[in-house]
Amino acid sequence: MSDITTTPQVSIPTIPVGRLAPWTVFFVLLATIVLFFISADQGAVSIPSGNAIHEWVHDGRHLLGFPCH
Ligand SMILES: [Zn+2]
Repeated sequence: MSDITTTPQVSIPTIPVGRLAPWTVFFVLLATIVLFFISADQGAVSIPSGNAIHEWVHDGRHLLGFPCH
C-alpha cells in the first residue's frame, strides 16, 4: 500500500451578489407573470378576451391546485 497522499487544489469561484441581483429580479418577475397567467388570468380577471390562455395553462392550473371549473 502506498503512503503517498495528495491534497487537491480546487478553487471555488465566487459570484458577487451585485451581479446576481438583476437576474434574480428578472426571474422573479418572469415567474410572477407565469404564475399570474396560470392562476388568475381568465379566471377572476382577463387581460385578453377569449379562452386561449385558459386552455394553454389549463393542466398547469389543475396541477397546482388553483380553482378552475
Ligand atoms: Zn379545469
